[in-house]
Amino acid sequence: MIEFSDVTKVYDDGTTAVDDLSITAPTGKITVLVGPSGCGKTTTLRMVNRLIEPTRGKILLGGEDSGEIDRIQMRRRIGYVIQNAGLFPHQTVVDNICAVPYLNGVKRGEARRRAQELLTLVGLDETYAKRYPWQLSGGQQQRVGVARALAADPPYMLMDEPFSAVDPIVRKQLQQEFLRIQGDLAKTILMVTHDIDEALRLGDQIVVFSEGGVVAQSGSPAEILAR
Ligand code: ADP
Ligand code: ADP
Repeated sequence: MIEFSDVTKVYDDGTTAVDDLSITAPTGKITVLVGPSGCGKTTTLRMVNRLIEPTRGKILLGGEDSGEIDRIQMRRRIGYVIQNAGLFPHQTVVDNICAVPYLNGVKRGEARRRAQELLTLVGLDETYAKRYPWQLSGGQQQRVGVARALAADPPYMLMDEPFSAVDPIVRKQLQQEFLRIQGDLAKTILMVTHDIDEALRLGDQIVVFSEGGVVAQSGSPAEILAR
């Protein structure tokens, strides 16, 4: 479970990006943050793994203050998937996927075996392992990004517009595969999108932001649609 308790972020220039946010992302579920550009979604997400420091308030991961968790632990616990996958360009697919396991001291052979399994899980066969990111399509890069995040087997995943860099058909396919993976793994996921259809399709719980980092409404997809 990820809990935000009265969290505010004011940037150095005085912009209030998130204003007194209190929400909970339940264990094993997908919570989607949705809203127009600039409403504070990415800021909210990045405060969880402390890529951005909150100005006020607390964020708890399974009851533990995320401000007290060190960087290495954070990477073990939280997978992070961004738009355009964010792969290391000078590393092969398999080395990208193994980056966090290597950091954690997992043996090379074991890490690579697991990487192959994850590639299969996201719908890529072994011929992709030795390629470089630039040799893949956008949709294939996104798949590798998801595999890389899963490689550390983190209980939590943060996903920022994970499927938006690809065309609508590939996006639907990626969303479906992602739901299938989540069905087995049941990670606690916090996801950002500006696409309400994506939010309704993927979210167990949806948090709708309005401008200024304020929550306009939240609930299950059925509850959001009923309003
Ligand atoms: P979203 O992800 O919903 O598009 P962001 O969280 O990126 O929104 O941004 C929320 C607000 O904070 C916007 O007004 C944005 O311009 C501002 N903002 C984001 N990053 C910074 C920063 N580093 N410094 C100042 N303002 C920022
Ligand atoms: P830098 O070394 O430039 O500060 P970071 O260490 O923040 O960069 O991030 C390096 C790469 O690791 C980026 O691609 C980023 O998306 C990814 N990353 C950052 N935080 C995490 C995390 N908690 N878990 C997994 N990957 C992360």
